[in-house]
Amino acid sequence: MQLMTDNLTAETRRRTMQLIRSSDTQPELKTRQFLHRLGFRFRLHDDNLAGKPDIVLPRYKTAVFVHGCFWHSHGCDRSVVPKTRLEYWVPKLAKTRDRDARSVSVLRKCGWRVIIVWECQTASTTALRRRFHHLLEAQKVAQRRLLRRTKVPNLLK
Ligand SMILES: [Zn+2]
Repeated sequence: MQLMTDNLTAETRRRTMQLIRSSDTQPELKTRQFLHRLGFRFRLHDDNLAGKPDIVLPRYKTAVFVHGCFWHSHGCDRSVVPKTRLEYWVPKLAKTRDRDARSVSVLRKCGWRVIIVWECQTASTTALRRRFHHLLEAQKVAQRRLLRRTKVPNLLK
């Protein structure tokens, strides 16, 4: 019985680790922290949207994908395809690229702004700022509008 319990625990642990790896990667966490610190509110892994974007900002109708450089073929140093088993990797990576392109196209057709953040860009705040330039601008505009709207009229005048 003890043995079985241990096995179950190991299995559960393995599944949990897999789940964590696929949905809460370090680059994703860094991106989320970056946006959170700037005051953005977002949803995670919205499977109602094409491609199940990692981060969704409904107020700005913006969907964000945080892509691993290797799996999504960024073309940087981290995305070099291993020379062994090329026949395995090439079609596999091509399939991922096609899927990514399809998701972006569907989202854009539905009026979403799509931002792709690459794993290698999450190491620097400057790169993230550059990536989210449009969103930061939209936030400024929204804040200015809110300030104007909430200005209390001076009744003593
Ligand atoms: Zn990269």
